[in-house]
Amino acid sequence: MARFIFITGGVVSSLGKGLMAASLAALLQARGYRVRIRKFDPYLNVDPGTMSPYQHGEVYVTDDGAETDLDLGHYERFTGVPSRQSDNVTSGRIYQQIIAKERRGDYLGATVQVIPHVTDAIKEFARAETDDLDFVLCEIGGTVGDIESLPFMEAIRQLRNDLGRANTCFIHVTLVPYIAAAGELKTKPTQHSVRDLTSLGIQPDVLVCRCDRPLPDGERAKIALFCNVPTSAVIEALDAKSIYAVPLQYNAAGLDEAVLRSFAIEPGAMPDLSRWSRIVERLDNPEGEVTVGVVGKYVGLADAYKSLNEALVHGGIANRVKVNIRWLDAELFEQTGTDIAAELEPLHAILVPGGFGERGSEGKIKSVTFARERNVPYFGICLGMQMACIEGARNTAGIAGASTTEFGPTEEPVVGLITEWMTEEGLQKREEGGDLGGTMRLGAYNASLAGNSHVSTIYGSTEIWERHRHRYEVNVHYREALEKGGMVFSGMSPDGELPEIVERPDHPWFIGVQFHPELKSKPFDPHPLFASFIGAAVRQSRLV
Ligand code: GLN
Repeated sequence: MARFIFITGGVVSSLGKGLMAASLAALLQARGYRVRIRKFDPYLNVDPGTMSPYQHGEVYVTDDGAETDLDLGHYERFTGVPSRQSDNVTSGRIYQQIIAKERRGDYLGATVQVIPHVTDAIKEFARAETDDLDFVLCEIGGTVGDIESLPFMEAIRQLRNDLGRANTCFIHVTLVPYIAAAGELKTKPTQHSVRDLTSLGIQPDVLVCRCDRPLPDGERAKIALFCNVPTSAVIEALDAKSIYAVPLQYNAAGLDEAVLRSFAIEPGAMPDLSRWSRIVERLDNPEGEVTVGVVGKYVGLADAYKSLNEALVHGGIANRVKVNIRWLDAELFEQTGTDIAAELEPLHAILVPGGFGERGSEGKIKSVTFARERNVPYFGICLGMQMACIEGARNTAGIAGASTTEFGPTEEPVVGLITEWMTEEGLQKREEGGDLGGTMRLGAYNASLAGNSHVSTIYGSTEIWERHRHRYEVNVHYREALEKGGMVFSGMSPDGELPEIVERPDHPWFIGVQFHPELKSKPFDPHPLFASFIGAAVRQSRLV
C-alpha cells in the first residue's frame, strides 16, 4: 500500500508549497521510490479551465486532457511522471459529483452533508489509483484557516486514522519572517499556524520553514518545542537562486530524511542527485546569453506563462546559455507611435504564445511579419501558429481579409471552428455555441510529420504526441494558398484534416505548432523544439 504525505501551508500564501512537494517527490524518486503528486484546490470552479490566467496563472493540460492547476506542471517537470486528470481536484468538482449523485437519488433519502459525504469523496480521490506507488504526496491549496479548505483538512485528518499513523505524514509549510527592527527571525507566526492546524486535529510531523536567512539553532529548537516536533524535523527553507536548485537545497536541509524518519524508515545512503547538480551547474555557468521576446496578452503576470517560461529556460540549459525573456504587450504594437522595429530589433528570437480572444492580435500579427521579413527565429504556439497563418495568408498569399472566426464572422476563415469548415458528411467533432468549459480539443493527440521537414529533423521522428488546448483550427482548405506563399504544412493530424505544424523552409527558423510543447519540457529533458529554437537564437545573436 502507498504511504501518504499531506502538505498544508500556513501564515501566508505563495510559500512555494507546490515547489516543495515537487522537490520532495524528486528526492524520494532519487532514492528509488515510485511517487505521484496530487493537488486539492479548495475553490469552487470545477476546474481552472475557465479562469483567467490573471486569476490563477496558466492552465496546465495533462495527456488525458484535464485542465489543471499550474502546480501539476511543477510536479511533472520535477519528477517526469505525467500528471493525470485524477491528480487534481477542486471543491467545485467534488460538489458537482455529489450533487449529481443526490439528484439521481443515489443517497437513498439520506441527508447529504459535508461530513461524511464531501470528506468521503475527497478521501476517495486521494486514494484512487495508488496501488503501484510508494508515496502519494497530496498538496492542499490555500492556507490553514481558510473556510474553503476545511473539508480537505477534515478529510486528511480522517485519513490518518483510516490508513494508520505509520502510513501518513503531515508536512506544514510556514514562514519565519525577519523583523529588521528587532534584528531577528520570528517564530511566533509558525507557532500560531501550527496551533490552528492542531485545532483541526492535525499534528504536523515535519515543519518546512521558509526564511530569507539561515534559521539559528535556538529558533529551530524553539519551533520544535512549541510545535511538538523533533528538532531534526524543523527544516530550514531558504530562498533559492533557481527553482531547480530547490531539490538539492531541501536535501541538504534534511527534508527527505526527516520525512522518511517520520515513517520510521531508515534513510540509508544519500540519494543520487547528479541529475539536479548537472542542471544547476549549467544554469550557474552559462557560456553566453540570448534575449527572446514573447509577444502576448498576459505579460503582466509571469505565472500566466509558467510552463513557457520554464521551457525557454530548459532550451537555455540544452544550449548552455542564459535565456533572457522580454515580455512584450501585443497591444502596444497596435498603438500608433509604437516603433515596432525598435522594440523587436534587439531580440534574438520572437515567440507568440497561446492565447484567447482578439485583444492584441494585430500586434501579434505585426511581430510575425517582422520575424518573417527580417529572418528572425519565430516560434508560434497555438494562437501563435494561427496568427502566423493569418499573417501568411494576408501578406504572402494575397488574402487580405484573412482572419479567425474566434474574432467574429469573416469572409476568409483561415482559422475557424472545425464545425464551420468540415463538409456536411464530415465528423462533427465539437458543438457550436456550447458551454465554454470543457469544449476544447484537450490533451495528447498524435501528429504525422513530413519526412523532409525541419520539424522531423528536430524531433528525430515523424510521429509525435503533443498536448492540445484550443477550440479553433487552421482551415486545411487554405493549405494550397498558404503553401504557395512559402509556408509548408509539415505536421498534420493522422487523418490529414487538422494542421498541426507549419514552417517556412526559406527562413532560418520559422515554426508554428497547434499544440503546447512547453507542457512536456523538463529541465533534465528539454523539449526538442525549445532546444532547437534557443539554438537558432544563439546563431541569431552572433549575427546582430
Ligand atoms: N484561442 C485559440 C483557440 O481556441 C488558441 C488557443 C491557445 O492558444 N491555447 O483555438
